[in-house]
Amino acid sequence: MPGAVPGESAWSGGTAIMGEPTPEGRFGEFGGRFVPESLVPACQELEVAFRSAWSDSAFRSEYHAILRDYAGRPTPVTECHRLSERLGVRVLLKREDLTHTGSHKINNVVGQALLTRAMGKRRLLAETGAGQHGVATATAAALFGMECVVYMGAVDVQRQALNVFRMRLLGAEVRTVESGSRTLKDAINEALRDWVASVETTHYCLGSVMGPHPYPWMVRQLQRVVGDEARDQCRALLGGADPDYVVACVGGGSNAAGTFAGFADTDAKLIGVEAAGGAALARGIPGVVHGMRSHLLQDEHGQVLEAHSMSAGLDYPGVGPEHAHLAAIGRAEYVEAGDVEVLAALRLLSETEGIIPALEPAHALAWVARVAGAEIPAGSSVLVTLSGRGDKDVAQVMEILG
Ligand SMILES: *Cc1c(COP(=O)(O)O)cnc(C)c1O
Repeated sequence: MPGAVPGESAWSGGTAIMGEPTPEGRFGEFGGRFVPESLVPACQELEVAFRSAWSDSAFRSEYHAILRDYAGRPTPVTECHRLSERLGVRVLLKREDLTHTGSHKINNVVGQALLTRAMGKRRLLAETGAGQHGVATATAAALFGMECVVYMGAVDVQRQALNVFRMRLLGAEVRTVESGSRTLKDAINEALRDWVASVETTHYCLGSVMGPHPYPWMVRQLQRVVGDEARDQCRALLGGADPDYVVACVGGGSNAAGTFAGFADTDAKLIGVEAAGGAALARGIPGVVHGMRSHLLQDEHGQVLEAHSMSAGLDYPGVGPEHAHLAAIGRAEYVEAGDVEVLAALRLLSETEGIIPALEPAHALAWVARVAGAEIPAGSSVLVTLSGRGDKDVAQVMEILG
């Protein structure tokens, strides 16, 4: 396959674990493309563009060059000596916190901005809840000299004033959504309405492995750089072996999908950690939302429930369809972490390693800290993806911990 990266398996008819989905965009019974008729051509155009770009070595080289020279890749894998001694298992961290903008989100938006240019479009559209994906999209738009419009619910605009200001500094237009509950799901509706009207010039930049085909597959491929790098780095540290456990937090599921993709064909146990208040896989039921069939939190009438987590990045009632599939076939396991243990884990990593994690990956660390020496046998090696740095969360953590 032209331009293939090490560790990536070739297309194999949709049957390989974390290979390509079916032509309908299905991962097992999940995924698909549930969109209004008017958006089908846009999804098809994107699929064709991505398929061609991803098999084009010039596109892949440019994508990797930008990630290297602008975003600071490859990020290191750090061996945590003091934390490992404390927990009795060998902890390795994949350091997405060290990227430009401080999280894995940059990998996705750089790829989608490049695709936007390849499709001859010049406007990026995004919706954002807490603002992090909006800031990432605005960053990529500035880098590529593109127009950027971000829809955000009025309630979130109030709560996330600093991120709204960041987006504006980066040259993006933030449109406040006053309809409905004035939060993320209303912002999604408005962004979709805009896209229907502007699809000729505009790319809808989705923030995680969600939505209609090809987004879940495309975003996973744009994030697999995390897992592909980590696999080689772990082998160098572990004498050629793979880690026993590979652990990542799951909001929509993009950092976890990107990480898992690098280890899907190894013997590593793959563990996704959801926030207890947003555990779509642990507690949700299958249904269709936001263009895809997946697991989601809903009541007995099929109404989507609001997720509640102190961690903004995990505060989403659904999860990417490929995770629903990985859970269904037993290749990955999904667990939960609660606020109290998450704060303790944030403090533990800060004190033992001098690394303040974002609240989202602190969920992954909390699970490891809870089960180290029990469900994870003593002496095991555990790779945790540190999806982002804690700077954005310290004010909130200070309010809680005092
Ligand atoms: C946005 C975000 C997440 C959640 O998104 P996924 O798609 O589940 O990866 C996790 N960690 C950080 C630091 C984030 O910014």
